[in-house]
Amino acid sequence: MNLNRSEELFKDAQRVLPGGVNSPVRAYGSIGMIPPFISRASGARVYDEDGNEYIDYVGSWGPMILGHSHGGVLEEIRNAIDGGTSFGAPTRREVEIAELIVDAVPSIEMVRMVNSGTEAVMSAIRLARGYTGRDLILKFDGCYHGHSDGLLVKAGSGALTTGVPNSAGVPGDYAKNTMTAGFNSVDQVKRIFNEKGNELAAVILEPVAGNMGVVLPDIEFLKTLERLTVKYGVLLIFDEVITGFRVSYGGAQEYYGINPDITVLGKILGGGMPVGAYGGKKEIMEMISPNGPVYQAGTLSGNPLAMAGGIAVLKILRDNPLIYSKLEDMGAKLEAGLKDAADKVGVCAKISRIGSLLGISMDCPFKGYFIDMLFQGIYLAPSQYEAMFISSAHTDEDIGHTIEAARNAFAKARGEG
Ligand SMILES: *Cc1c(COP(=O)(O)O)cnc(C)c1O
Repeated sequence: MNLNRSEELFKDAQRVLPGGVNSPVRAYGSIGMIPPFISRASGARVYDEDGNEYIDYVGSWGPMILGHSHGGVLEEIRNAIDGGTSFGAPTRREVEIAELIVDAVPSIEMVRMVNSGTEAVMSAIRLARGYTGRDLILKFDGCYHGHSDGLLVKAGSGALTTGVPNSAGVPGDYAKNTMTAGFNSVDQVKRIFNEKGNELAAVILEPVAGNMGVVLPDIEFLKTLERLTVKYGVLLIFDEVITGFRVSYGGAQEYYGINPDITVLGKILGGGMPVGAYGGKKEIMEMISPNGPVYQAGTLSGNPLAMAGGIAVLKILRDNPLIYSKLEDMGAKLEAGLKDAADKVGVCAKISRIGSLLGISMDCPFKGYFIDMLFQGIYLAPSQYEAMFISSAHTDEDIGHTIEAARNAFAKARGEG
């Protein structure tokens, strides 16, 4: 396998794109090798510019639950293209996708479409502040909510302090309005509500954390958040950008039976097109302009091509519930196989999984494991903190190949470690 063409492209890219990429993780910085430039993808496979073929577990970082270039999805988008690409006016597809979302996600009565998960989170926070008339928000360490200023915040020092910026360019004053706590830490949550409950506008979390490996929530943690937010008049925001339509059709809130006030969606919702959305109870959503005082707008929001992609994916998922049992099945096989492969060569691997979302951490060098997997044709995210995404296009054979490759990669990485 060679990456000659990718190497040339990466050189060109670095001249005109910061880091050669449009989103930092793609640069393979922690791996220290050229990232393959992807030319096309189909089903569970991605292909790079040198013609190498990989079994894909990145899935565009979550959206591709049906696999790449799904015939039904492409057809919907093609139909939309023939009618023009953008009007900036109301269209029937916006109504259709909103109805699909309202039917799918238990707590959503109304929804506003935007263009990314980041934009949806940023807007949801503004809405929560507008609705409650409070400024302070609480987030959890290790949960990622996109790159808006108020969410690029990490824990400050001290037990009950507000956060500090996680990036240059974020004013300290923004970070001051964001408190942080440990994911699954019921004690910290109780303490914060005790002292600051009446000042909090919102608590935001990934109901299943998918950006620090995969961390499943304790049900007690979710129930505590649900109870305390009601008690103190704080809005509970579920960031279901990864979990929505992934852990079940109705997302993590359906899976765990929790009722958030606002839900943020993205990724799968666009079927690979740039889409985000935020929705919730009618009374809250009516606060958004033009009906209410919370301003939020978008030239390309509800774009017909993006809506077409999302509508196609949602309808397929809604009408084929067996997809979720198939994903669970393959997820279980992959989990058991990876565990067994690691055990056999004496690597200690910790795997956590919910359905088709799988996180793995290991006590051998990840970099070695990653590169060896890539060279065996397995395309993983270049970080231990990113999840593996299985699609309905993966087959038992793909899973088998992957486990086989992992056994080799673990053995080799063990040797290096
Ligand atoms: C990816 C992600 C986002 C940000 O979405 P973008 O479309 O990349 O802006 C927000 N929240 C979670 C949980 C995510 O995984």
